Amino acid sequence: MSDSQPKQSRREFILNLSEKLPGWLLVLSTLNPQSLLAGDEDKYDPTEHNYAMGVDIHKCIGCGRCADACKNENNVPREPMFFRTWVERYVIPTNGDARVDSPNGGINGFDELKTDVEVLRTFFVPKLCNHCQNPPCVQVCPVGATFTSRDGVVLVDANYCVGCRYCIQACPYGARYMHPVKHVADKCTFCYHRITKELLPACVEVCPTQARVFGETDKTSSPLRRFLRFNDIRVLKAWLNTEPKVFYAGADGEVM
Ligand code: SF4
Ligand code: SF4
Repeated sequence: MSDSQPKQSRREFILNLSEKLPGWLLVLSTLNPQSLLAGDEDKYDPTEHNYAMGVDIHKCIGCGRCADACKNENNVPREPMFFRTWVERYVIPTNGDARVDSPNGGINGFDELKTDVEVLRTFFVPKLCNHCQNPPCVQVCPVGATFTSRDGVVLVDANYCVGCRYCIQACPYGARYMHPVKHVADKCTFCYHRITKELLPACVEVCPTQARVFGETDKTSSPLRRFLRFNDIRVLKAWLNTEPKVFYAGADGEVM
């Protein structure tokens, strides 16, 4: 390549290569991004954990502090189209279909409802990556950059992501976005850098009503186990068999 030619980034090189030589995908997929996590935390044993989250819709007041805290904690771009977690308002009219809005992801809360239809009820639904146990985003990633960690968290290794957007298209929950600066797929990590230090995800920590519950599905001492036991639990789009690990209490047909 001459000096006058634009240089390809590593990501562009791999993406071009994967389009031209499908056989390389096999080679690339044998690389192991998960190994990058090894040794991050000396004392932390990921095999002892299986993380998940509960959301109690009855408790959410739509203040948006969770979405704001997430942006701050994870350096999510401030523009309104980029979120790792956001809050939606559902308006159920007496007659007709539910209406959903989420201005700026709910970060600034919600204005008083102005509508010309008779409203039966309104409620707020925080959303985020469901850290599915059967994740289509992982299945479609051609280079293994999206993977499930041994502690049950779906992660993206930015060093391996080639920015092909396959995972963004495959996610049925709209939980991923293309980072406008890094040009890699980005999404909720359950604040992995915090939970591996026994801290709560930022969204859970700031929630003033404890609408979000973080914990482990396999430990009887976990608050999440109590949440799952004492509530009528549903997951989003259960019929897709993605097996989400964000569990909702107080949700009904309009949300699912
Ligand atoms: Fe992947 Fe979307 Fe499931 Fe998250 S919610 S694990 S991004 S398919
Ligand atoms: Fe709902 Fe809690 Fe988020 Fe406020 S911080 S919007 S109450 S989940």
